[in-house]
Amino acid sequence: MKMITDKIGFTPISIDAYVERHAKANRDDKPEEVRAWLQRALRDHKAGVKCQCGNPLWVIGSAVSGNACFTCITGAAGPDSDFEIDDAMK
Ligand SMILES: [Zn+2]
Repeated sequence: MKMITDKIGFTPISIDAYVERHAKANRDDKPEEVRAWLQRALRDHKAGVKCQCGNPLWVIGSAVSGNACFTCITGAAGPDSDFEIDDAMK
C-alpha cells in the first residue's frame, strides 16, 4: 500500500511535546522562543510557502534553519521517522 503524501515518513508530534523535547536537548534555547519559531514556520507552511526547490516546508527544521524542506535542510532523501508538527501534516 502506498500513500500519496508529501509528509510520509514523518512522526507526528504536537508543538507542546516538541518544545519540551527541544528544551531538554538544547538548554540554551528558551522554550517560548522555540515555540514562536515553530508557530512562525507553521504559519508560513499553512500559507502555502514552499522551499526554494518547490517542496513543502519541513516545519520543525524551518523553525530553526529558516524556511526549507527536509531534503534541503538535512541533505537526506526523505524523513525516516523524523518529527514533524502534527498540525502541519493535516
Ligand atoms: Zn527544498
